[in-house]
Amino acid sequence: MSMNLELQARTLIRDNNFINGQWVAAAGGRRFAVTDPATGKLVADVADSCPADARAAVDAAAAALPGWRATLPKDRAAVLRRWHALILEQQDALAALISLEQGKPLAEGRGEIVYGASYVAWFADEATRIYGDLIPQQQRGKRMSAIKEPIGVVAAITPWNFPLAMIARKIAPALAAGCTVVAKPAEDTPLTAIALVMLAHRAGVPDGVLNLISASRESAVEAVGEWLADSRVRKITFTGSTPVGKYLARESANSLKKASLELGGNAPFIVFEDADLDAAVTGLLAAKFRNGGQTCVSPNRVYVQRSVYARFSTLLSAKVAELRVGPASDPASQIGPMINVRAVEKIARHVEDALVNGALVLTGGRRLAELGPHYYAPTVLANATSRMLLCNEETFGPVVPLFAFDTEQEAVQAANDTPFGLASYFYSQDVRRIDRVSRALEAGIVGINEGALASEAAPFGGVKESGYGREGSKYGLDDYLSIKYLCQGGLE
Ligand code: NAP
Repeated sequence: MSMNLELQARTLIRDNNFINGQWVAAAGGRRFAVTDPATGKLVADVADSCPADARAAVDAAAAALPGWRATLPKDRAAVLRRWHALILEQQDALAALISLEQGKPLAEGRGEIVYGASYVAWFADEATRIYGDLIPQQQRGKRMSAIKEPIGVVAAITPWNFPLAMIARKIAPALAAGCTVVAKPAEDTPLTAIALVMLAHRAGVPDGVLNLISASRESAVEAVGEWLADSRVRKITFTGSTPVGKYLARESANSLKKASLELGGNAPFIVFEDADLDAAVTGLLAAKFRNGGQTCVSPNRVYVQRSVYARFSTLLSAKVAELRVGPASDPASQIGPMINVRAVEKIARHVEDALVNGALVLTGGRRLAELGPHYYAPTVLANATSRMLLCNEETFGPVVPLFAFDTEQEAVQAANDTPFGLASYFYSQDVRRIDRVSRALEAGIVGINEGALASEAAPFGGVKESGYGREGSKYGLDDYLSIKYLCQGGLE
């Protein structure tokens, strides 16, 4: 990254909590380090929040709620549009900041800004379309209607893999609906979220409407625990791993908070013998290697019909071997470092387990220690089987295991043989098969001859243990609204 870009990124760095429109240090005075995963160098020391900070954030959000929910939808939309414009104005600096704390190549960071901002623009428009119903009359003298109201204070908790997009996908619909927000980003990547909140304030989001606290992994449990226990928080919206999502759902059940949970995946990618193999390779590369495989919709298991297995694996391995790995500061890098050492260790453990159980390395299969401790080579493994760890857990790294199959039924059965159900993909040119398989796959999202699925206009979310709720689309506001039934009598 050029010195100039890094300097631009640094103009956006704030290191304290943002509560009631003020930058405040954590009540306990503690801080934690945010480091660059490419180099291990310190980027900033930020507030390490405790339950008192979490409580102060809810105090502010609860106090601001009556005023914000009473604003006209078109006025909330105007604030969101200004926020959208400010995010795009700062696209280069924000992308550089994402690269600094998360490690993805700059071009991908720029893409994430546009993608995250698109949700802000989308929900600005949706804010003005929150319709209710006038229910057809059932009795003389009685009028029945249903109106939609903001659910109240929303707690948003987000992961590190898309430091801007994941939090924008939550804050934008919450604000559009008239809710107020308390947010906690991931320990590894709080800076982009803090910058985003600063821009929202500049765009005119009033004091107390949007509050953010940062916390280290150790402090997060207690700080978020405060929100889970607080009955003023009416909704929890979470993106992250399935075990943490289940824990949050259990804990928030005491005060019956509504929950939206965007959780882990274990996406299958099926290549049928009637597929356009070049297109399937292109689609797989796009879906798999974005963010170095650290995405929830990343294909984790690639099923290839036996008759095309050899050809497909040769085409794929050649392309994967060409991928350039390096720091975000090198414009030629296509894959950056993994987020932390735990992530690299998990990938290495999955690959070792696969090799012990009979897999073969077609390309990669090793750490790139010469680049640094967080790098792993883009990898293709042949002869994968269902016994292997990488078939049963999200690898969350640049590893493609290839499984062979014979029949459509066998492929669909294997694809569905997981507790998860977020994204799935298949390639085929047979229209009847496309219809059958799209309906048979147990997933919230199906890519058909397509590897790039995300769009603010589409409903994003999972089934089974990948969670519930949908982000984006015309459905995305529902999670932040409650329906009130009005029954008016004595009209005759
Ligand atoms: P994670 O460990 O579940 O963490 C997510 C967030 O929850 C972070 O802010 C984390 O804070 C916080 N957290 C963790 N344990 C907590 C606890 N006990 N109490 C309160 N907060 C807690 O997930 P991750 O490793 O950051 O993200 C990767 C996962 O997210 C993958 O499984 C991926 O598939 C999933 N994901 C899903 C989607 C989707 O849309 N479905 C999108 C992106 C990612 P710390 O950072 O401090 O631990």
